[in-house]
Amino acid sequence: MAKVIVFIEQREGKAKKASFELVAASAAAGNETHAVIIGDSVTAIANEAAQYGANKIHLVQDAGLKLYSAESYARALTTAIKSLSPEIVLAAHTPMGKELMPTVSVQVDGALATDCTSLAFSGGKLQAKRPVYSGKAMVEVEFLGSGIQMATVRPNALGLPKPDTSKTADASNISVDLSGLKTKILEVVKGNSARPDVTEAAIVVSGGRSLKSAENFKILEDLADTVGAAVGASRAAVDAGFRPHRDQVGQTGKVVSPTCYIACGISGAIQHLAGMRTSKVIVAINSDPQAPIFQIADYGVVGDLFQVVPALTNEFKKIKE
Ligand SMILES: Cc1cc2nc3c(=O)[nH]c(=O)nc-3n(C[C@H](O)[C@H](O)[C@H](O)COP(=O)(O)OP(=O)(O)OC[C@H]3O[C@@H](n4cnc5c(N)ncnc54)[C@H](O)[C@@H]3O)c2cc1C
Repeated sequence: MAKVIVFIEQREGKAKKASFELVAASAAAGNETHAVIIGDSVTAIANEAAQYGANKIHLVQDAGLKLYSAESYARALTTAIKSLSPEIVLAAHTPMGKELMPTVSVQVDGALATDCTSLAFSGGKLQAKRPVYSGKAMVEVEFLGSGIQMATVRPNALGLPKPDTSKTADASNISVDLSGLKTKILEVVKGNSARPDVTEAAIVVSGGRSLKSAENFKILEDLADTVGAAVGASRAAVDAGFRPHRDQVGQTGKVVSPTCYIACGISGAIQHLAGMRTSKVIVAINSDPQAPIFQIADYGVVGDLFQVVPALTNEFKKIKE
């Protein structure tokens, strides 16, 4: 059993479920699991963390932590780590986790494994598996010495159990000194999409160059909205201006690991696979039966996406009705 801190990522008071995957995995392994929630007015998240298995909840609250900045949040998380002295610290491998954890690992002199897809706990020690070479190989990481073992874990990689809604939080406060910071976030300008981000969605519907225009992505959006999915894109589709770069999946885009990835008119170049090959179920729709995407697909449809995708959407609509 280890003492584990899980950094609970939140924006605007809404926690990321990827953080609760880590809480649940740590608790299921019998660890003493501490959830650290940083922000302003984030008390409401404490119960959620308890319901996924956190034994103790620590709130680091300050008006200066309302908007995320790497510098202020690193100060807050470092303060919590120094006050709780855990063996292990976990965070989701989201844009926030990717930025924050390397900074914190330096500040607490810990060792960090990033972008992990599985964790194993044994006798206070952490072992992590992480993809390398664009997902072509996996490495197993173990931590040497007695320093703090830290890892970021790809969202959706561990899965989220059902919360135990009968549980309530035992929350305490940790205060942080935010004086002397060198940066301050003044404003966050959000994108205008109501759909989930590709890195967080349980289902991702992605399109490639073959969509031919930004307007044609409407057929993917219809499917995505029917099944509650995010819309992703290949780099070719992004470079052609069909989708914004934030939707790009792959080596130079985002890495996703959804329960289901539906690739529509995407050839399956190695750089695209690097961003989605750890998806649980991969569905490929492509008019070319030789397209490389079929080599990693669990289900393949050889056909014209302009016919197959609307037909799929109709079937899902019928099921929902
Ligand atoms: C350094 C580097 C980094 C890169 N990073 C990324 C990255 O992050 N993400 C990424 O995606 N790519 C990346 N690429 C580009 C990558 O190599 C491919 O060029 C790109 O993924 C191809 O996109 P695509 O599959 O949409 O297009 P194409 O390769 O042109 O494939 C289109 C596919 O659609 C099929 N098709 C055509 N019409 C239809 C239809 N009507 N119905 C069904 N199927 C149809 C075709 O059979 C074909 O398989 C990177 C490349 C480099 C060199």
